[in-house]
Amino acid sequence: MKVVYHKDFLESYTFDPAAAEGRIEAILDVIEKKVSFVEALPASRDDIAALHTKSHIEHIERIGIYKIAALAAGGAIQAATIGLKEPCFGLIRPPGHHASANSAWGFCYFNNMAIAIDKLKREGKIEKAFVLDIDLHFGDGTVNLLGEKKYVTLVNPSSSNSVDFIKQVEKALPTEGVDIIGISAGFDYAREDWGGVLKREDYTTIGRMVKEAARSCGGGYFAVLEGGYNHQVLGYNCMALLEGMAA
Ligand SMILES: [Zn+2]
Repeated sequence: MKVVYHKDFLESYTFDPAAAEGRIEAILDVIEKKVSFVEALPASRDDIAALHTKSHIEHIERIGIYKIAALAAGGAIQAATIGLKEPCFGLIRPPGHHASANSAWGFCYFNNMAIAIDKLKREGKIEKAFVLDIDLHFGDGTVNLLGEKKYVTLVNPSSSNSVDFIKQVEKALPTEGVDIIGISAGFDYAREDWGGVLKREDYTTIGRMVKEAARSCGGGYFAVLEGGYNHQVLGYNCMALLEGMAA
């Protein structure tokens, strides 16, 4: 499977857990021999400004995060574009799903997923999109940015029980009429991470269900990294999702 990545994502750009040293390495160590890498390119300012306000973008510049956040957003655009034709994962950071038009929190700066979906839509590459956010935390930024756009369906499953979580995903996934399914792939719902719920094999099940839903729709699918903070298991859970997604 293709994985969009850049060595600059190894840099620890702040002191938050998403920026922690060793986090990207934890994933690379597990997946690098099993995937092919595509180098991430930064998103253009226009692509970022299509969803974020000028004052928010200037704020991100002032705090010195613009370069890495634009690279993550660009990586998401590439993952979504490749995803139209074949499964793809964006191994990117900082994460994005808590970023709204004029504000961001929760280790996020620009909304990578929303920027990617919006770009495909503006370029006429998709008509309808579906976003499955499996991060432990509700993707409020994505909802704020895309929730009122009629072409996107957003789902944030939530449960303290893994069987119920998987059932919610299964029930929500489309069977027709969607051109792209994007997974906001946070791994902090994992049993050995902050959420304490999802088992490793659940990530494979979710990846496989998304693949089958996309096939049923005749559309594409991709995932981008959001949260996930236990470096001991992060790579294995990520690999489990990729195994399910693999064509
Ligand atoms: Zn999270």
